[in-house]
Amino acid sequence: MRILLVEDSRAVAAVMTMRLAAFGYEVSVAANGEIAVAMFATLPPDLMPDLILMDVQMPVMNGFEASARIRAIEATRDWAWTPIVFLTASSSPDTLVTAIEAGGDDFIVKSAPESVLRAKMKAMTRIAALRARLSVANRLLSEQASRDGLTGLLNRRHMDLTLDQAWNAVCGRGQPFGLMMIDIDHFKKYNDHYGHLAGDDCLCTVAKALEGVVKRFNADVPDSGVFVARYGGEEFAVVMPAVSSGAFHATAGAIIDAVRSLAVPHERNAEWGIVTASLGGVHVERADDDLVALFRTADARLYRAKEAGRNCVVLN
Ligand code: GH3
Ligand code: MG
Ligand code: MG
Ligand code: MG
Repeated sequence: MRILLVEDSRAVAAVMTMRLAAFGYEVSVAANGEIAVAMFATLPPDLMPDLILMDVQMPVMNGFEASARIRAIEATRDWAWTPIVFLTASSSPDTLVTAIEAGGDDFIVKSAPESVLRAKMKAMTRIAALRARLSVANRLLSEQASRDGLTGLLNRRHMDLTLDQAWNAVCGRGQPFGLMMIDIDHFKKYNDHYGHLAGDDCLCTVAKALEGVVKRFNADVPDSGVFVARYGGEEFAVVMPAVSSGAFHATAGAIIDAVRSLAVPHERNAEWGIVTASLGGVHVERADDDLVALFRTADARLYRAKEAGRNCVVLN
């Protein structure tokens, strides 16, 4: 475990380092608050201290101010919380109150016996380890909450949460915007004929094909903001912010081709004999319209693709 000891007195720092090293801790020393803040701001995550022991009175920047700054840095990093224990001369109640107010978690008097120092270190690092586990769990949960349980694609919730933001950004910049709605053809008949479980498998297979097309697109245009989501049931949506009309048209064609190329047998899809999908899409050169209207247009075009015999795209 790594401890950052912030202490201006070389003598105190030497003694503390010795005691902490004897407990098995790895200690680095900063001679004042400013150095500690600079270290904290620039250290890579795997070299961050697990705990900070902070002297209060120091030249250049005292311990309270340094703690406030460290907490401000942490506020910009979702994974970070490092316990700060103040090293004080007295153990008065006022010292505790001031330490907590300054963003510290506890204090320890410099003259504290070995056993007290050791116990406090242990308690604080236990809390820090719990916090670290909690932040990993939180990240996982929020990732899961945006995924569809069956196909693993982004879900409707994620789409709703991110779409307005993406839309407003392209509107602000007067950029193009594309939206596609994709619906598997005669999927009710697929379920009726092959069973619901096979239907689930088919949905996953189609989802992978759509994801493959979008991944290929994003490999060419990193950070494009283009994504595919399971919109509901056997319907999917592809959101394409700031994408040219040419790329939009090419992607729409590639999506329908990708589903067709899976060649998943579907006897009850009378005309084609395999699983196919229909796509309705809309692309605007300058986003400024109402997003709801784009959904209506994409839906109406999807309906026309169905009317036109399915297994095709309608983009105009
Ligand atoms: P169309 O070509 O006009 O789109 O016909 P369709 O049969 O695909 O359309 P419809 O909306 O009548 O039926 C959609 C079917 O999709 C009905 C429903 O049971 C099935 N479905 C929706 N979600 C799931 C799912 O998660 N798993 C399975 N197996 N089937 C699903
Ligand atoms: Mg001092
Ligand atoms: Mg449908
Ligand atoms: Mg359908």
